[in-house]
Amino acid sequence: MIEDASRRVVIMGAGPAGLTAAYELMRHHLPSITLEKDPRFVGGISRTEEHRGYRFDIGGHRFFSKSQEVEDLWTEVLGDDLLVRGRLSRIFYQGKYFDYPLKASNALLNMGPLETVRCIASYIWARIHPYRPPRNLEEWVTNQFGQRLFRIFFKTYTEKVWGISTKDLSADWAAQRIKGLNLTEAIKGALLPQRKPKSGKTGKDGKLADRSAVIKTLIDEFRYPKHGPGQMWERVAERLRAGGNLVALGQQVQAVRHCGGRVTEVVVRDHASGQVGSVTGAHFISTLPIRELIHKLEPAPPPAVVAAADQLKYRDFLTIAMVINRSQVFPDNWIYIHDPSVKVGRMQNFKAWSPYMTPDDQTTCLGLEYFCFEGDGLWSASDEELVALGRRELAQLGMCKPEETLWGVVVRQPKAYPVYDDEYKRHLAVIRRWIEPALPNLALVGRNGMHHYNNQDHSMMTALLAARNIATGSHFDPWKVNTDAEYHEEARFDDDDTSGRQMPKLANVEK
Ligand SMILES: Cc1cc2nc3c(=O)[nH]c(=O)nc-3n(C[C@H](O)[C@H](O)[C@H](O)COP(=O)(O)OP(=O)(O)OC[C@H]3O[C@@H](n4cnc5c(N)ncnc54)[C@H](O)[C@@H]3O)c2cc1C
Repeated sequence: MIEDASRRVVIMGAGPAGLTAAYELMRHHLPSITLEKDPRFVGGISRTEEHRGYRFDIGGHRFFSKSQEVEDLWTEVLGDDLLVRGRLSRIFYQGKYFDYPLKASNALLNMGPLETVRCIASYIWARIHPYRPPRNLEEWVTNQFGQRLFRIFFKTYTEKVWGISTKDLSADWAAQRIKGLNLTEAIKGALLPQRKPKSGKTGKDGKLADRSAVIKTLIDEFRYPKHGPGQMWERVAERLRAGGNLVALGQQVQAVRHCGGRVTEVVVRDHASGQVGSVTGAHFISTLPIRELIHKLEPAPPPAVVAAADQLKYRDFLTIAMVINRSQVFPDNWIYIHDPSVKVGRMQNFKAWSPYMTPDDQTTCLGLEYFCFEGDGLWSASDEELVALGRRELAQLGMCKPEETLWGVVVRQPKAYPVYDDEYKRHLAVIRRWIEPALPNLALVGRNGMHHYNNQDHSMMTALLAARNIATGSHFDPWKVNTDAEYHEEARFDDDDTSGRQMPKLANVEK
């Protein structure tokens, strides 16, 4: 362990942001100590869990960035272990697989002639009698696609992901994401020949040569570590330790003490022994959810700052990894479950992400993903109840027989998504106005650390900038790191899929 506390940087959280900060500091020969509450894994939401040799993610994690620097860092650490994988992901509805992104011919074929006629009739009805003006997401999408298509392809999944009725979500937001598209345009797009995209690679400057090409590339393939995203962060932690920097697991930050306008120490509780100790340093980097960080500060910030932090909201997530005694259940990397009769929202098929994730090729490990709020019925159900639910829903969807599911394990991920409601920007501003001048040696970075829909790449970039500020005395602004979602995922507006940045806004309308 590095003893030089006078230069040491104390990093709270060993997710992508915390570990990237430590790695960058090591490049600048600055010592760090990273404190992680999880007793087993580094990587945070980007960790890869392992049970009985089966590895699985908290939601599949594609590796893609517009930033060449981030791409290079992944390549440097993972080398040949960073695979290029083909992508297949479809929508599962009423026992049928619909191509995703939607293709008119495939959708019509799957729905059959009767449902197709009904959908077209409902679309014509919507064109003749549109909602004027559409007051919410439901009315806006119905105007563009008709009520029937809205119900099949938009309503159920959106409501599963966000836990909010589509009547309470903003129409503006849908309009922004879907832009001018409606059923007529979608059918024209499917029938008319498409322009072939050029190369999808980013230049050395990280700029896109052709945005449509990148989206096309992302639709077809992505990079993914052989042993899951956690492999990246396990390796970074190894390198840090080899360089003499401590990455301490099972160390929960309990308090962040400050005095005379500087953070002086953090108080940590050791998971195994329950002992409480403190760690001092010259600079501090937090990736903790802002709401939690504010409550850990001693002395406490002004009441208005605490009140603002208490208003920041999160959507939570749990995954049930089910091992099935079958070599293949479906070939996709993941599928979206639009069926309203089940609670599961999405299913990952980990061996389609990488064959190295599953130790026995005669079996399959599926991640059944449920979107929830901490403390609600799903979240609070026992692991046994949840595994039983997973087994039941797999059978109900016709994926496999109950006796084929060998075992399952539940992983709960609190604060998976920072919620972008109408008020979050105002609350963040109150917090930043106080914390930045009050505690200049404390940097907030990462996803929940900044309450930003950052993917790994943006979480990493905020950390790189904060580390450089400390190491070189520069004044980069991590809050300016771009969080535009468009390039990462074709604009699927109804879920965060992998980008985590496509949260709809609440509608400001009376119901
Ligand atoms: C379902 C889903 C799918 C996603 N898919 C993708 C994808 O395909 N590609 C992609 O690039 N990104 C994806 N992301 C986003 C990615 O997971 C995050 O951007 C990234 O993990 C954020 O890194 P972070 O270090 O800021 O935060 P986190 O990953 O949240 O790490 C924070 C760390 O701090 C620790 N911590 C918290 N409190 C304390 C405490 N009191 N004391 C000590 N430690 C503490 C946590 O245990 C955690 O390890 C996805 C996210 C979700 C939810």
